[in-house]
Amino acid sequence: KYDYRASDPELWAAIDNECDRQQDNIELIASENITSDAVMAAQGTVLTNKYAEGLPGKRYYGGCEYIDVVEQLAIDRAKKLFGAEFANVQPHSGSQANQAAYAAFLKPGDRILGMDLNAGGHLSHGAKFNFSGKVYDTFTYGLDPNNEELDYDAILQVAKEVQPKMIVAGASAYSRTIDWTKFREIADAVGAYLMVDMAHIAGLVATGLHPSPVGIADVVTTTTHKTLRGPRGGLILSQEKYAKKINSAVFPGTQGGPLEHVIAAKAETFFEDLQPEFKTYCEQIIKNAKAMAKVFNDSDNVSVVSGGTDNHLLNLDLSKTDISGRELQEMLESVMITTNKEMIPNDKRKPTETSGIRIGTPAITTRGFKEADATRVAELIMDVINGHDDDQVMKDVRAGVQGLTDAHPIKW
Ligand code: PLP
Repeated sequence: KYDYRASDPELWAAIDNECDRQQDNIELIASENITSDAVMAAQGTVLTNKYAEGLPGKRYYGGCEYIDVVEQLAIDRAKKLFGAEFANVQPHSGSQANQAAYAAFLKPGDRILGMDLNAGGHLSHGAKFNFSGKVYDTFTYGLDPNNEELDYDAILQVAKEVQPKMIVAGASAYSRTIDWTKFREIADAVGAYLMVDMAHIAGLVATGLHPSPVGIADVVTTTTHKTLRGPRGGLILSQEKYAKKINSAVFPGTQGGPLEHVIAAKAETFFEDLQPEFKTYCEQIIKNAKAMAKVFNDSDNVSVVSGGTDNHLLNLDLSKTDISGRELQEMLESVMITTNKEMIPNDKRKPTETSGIRIGTPAITTRGFKEADATRVAELIMDVINGHDDDQVMKDVRAGVQGLTDAHPIKW
């Protein structure tokens, strides 16, 4: 067989190094996870060779009989997992799912009201430098400065002023349960469509650990690679009555040929997510996040934004220390803990510096971390915050990280 490793050692060395990095680091980026072998295997199949524009049974190319089986499995499983009437599994990413969802319901220049990027929203919810902010007329809502949670009365006021055609609910860095019914009431009060982007919490929604927006929102989008633990990709759910306009907004509206090898991996993911073990996994994600939040809240100099977490992530407020989010991210990286800097409410620093970091537990939970391990990780982070100038402290933290990653190897 063709020895691709020998013929392109430069590329394969980088891939091997990334494999080691994932094994050796404690991954706390809230939007990341570690897929199963089966999900990775599906993506490395001959399905990557096939053009299949259209939908199962209605393709623009010949030779799609097996592809149709794959894509129909993904559709049926997605519908079952979320109790949805309709699913389109073709979006190449979360941003493309959002692009298609907007295109299905809006015209360029229509008004969107979404969560502010600095409050925890996503770029594609209307940031001015993103397609969403360029194509549509976008406005934002933020958090209540007192309790750092969504303030539904304030969102209603903004909605009344802005009169958006669509309200976008959902976030990239919000640790509290979101009340979709309240968003529905706000949307109805101003005659707007409601779109929910549940990318971060989709696994928790699928397992009933977070209320589901399906059946409440007009359209629900998600990525498949975060808490759902699947391949990088997107998914749109909705009601049957919107099927035609959403399908045509995906293809030919915003995409060409679907990535059928990724769709196969989505089908595999939804199969895995329908198993009882996946609920146990999602319960552990939340337990681990709560265990970490407790350590931070028990400390004197840092706290968790909004006081805690109901889901898979928390935002750490560093404003009482002299280190920025960027600095802590770099210090943690030097001891092989991966996080990302994050704005906190009323942040005095720039978005490139920030006064917070975001911490998520999906990936460590996949590799078997339980509450005691999560507590230990939070303690190691506290050691870095308080002792980063002391070489011995940093060496001890590094050893602590290795102890945890060795005890919980990623099983590839
Ligand atoms: N929506 C939310 C809420 C996200 O957090 C993200 C990514 O982190 C996306 C959409 C975009 O997904 P992608 O990176 O696949 O475009």
